[in-house]
Amino acid sequence: MDLSPYRITTEPYYHPTGHEIALYEHAYAHRLPLMLKGPTGCGKTRFVEHMAWRLGKPLITLACNEDMTAADLVGRYLLDTDGTHWHDGPLTTAVRHGAICYLDEIVEARQDTTVVIHPLTDGRRILPLDKKGEILKAHPDFQLVVSYNPGYQSHGKQLKPSTRQRFAALEFDYPEAAVETDIVAHESGIERSLAARLVDIAHKSRRLRERGLEEGISTRMLIYAGTLIHDGLPPRDSCRMAMTAALTDEPDMAQALEAILDAAF
Ligand code: ADP
Repeated sequence: MDLSPYRITTEPYYHPTGHEIALYEHAYAHRLPLMLKGPTGCGKTRFVEHMAWRLGKPLITLACNEDMTAADLVGRYLLDTDGTHWHDGPLTTAVRHGAICYLDEIVEARQDTTVVIHPLTDGRRILPLDKKGEILKAHPDFQLVVSYNPGYQSHGKQLKPSTRQRFAALEFDYPEAAVETDIVAHESGIERSLAARLVDIAHKSRRLRERGLEEGISTRMLIYAGTLIHDGLPPRDSCRMAMTAALTDEPDMAQALEAILDAAF
């Protein structure tokens, strides 16, 4: 099996916000299953990409959704011209060949799907392939990493205790202002002073969470706005398109976000 498409050959830019690199390295050394907790667009995916590059391991990423079945993770028999053949799913590929498997937004998956990871996340480190009649022992390099947004608990999207207690967890949040400014300037190419103004808008939007806004402007949205500004679009239009319009449909909240833009530009 050629895992080269899953190898990350150039360093993904990642600005640490604490000791997370050292903590991950220790977790990986012991192959601890890891949960990255934090809001959308705060750097979890970038971090795992950076770590896979740093450790020189292939990374297989899967965005979870409610239509995903256990077979989508594990694999299935498929019919082709000369009969039926087993095809490993992405999780099985990672387990068999020693990749880091990153299940993004694990709570989106149905619970009957989630349980397939249980025997992989304890001392057994096995993946039973029931349909194939194989018990696959994990390659020594295999590690399971999942991401989870605790802010979605209000939608009843929670991890079962029996699942979550299998993971060590690293907590993420939007970086502090100076770091987030560096990230936005680096990723979008705009001047640092302008990036700082965008970050200030994001901070104000994040305070609106107390007034009922579900999520504030994420680092990712700031980078999108910066990219449009860097292209030469007016800042105001860029911010509306990339940062505020998508956040809410609620007129009061939209007005509050618009007022934040008024004050900024
Ligand atoms: P998440 O997985 O938490 O939803 P991402 O990792 O996709 O978020 O982050 C969104 C974008 O924000 C990334 O593509 C990257 O450009 C940027 N980013 C966020 N945090 C960092 C960081 N600490 N260092 C470098 N880039 C970051």
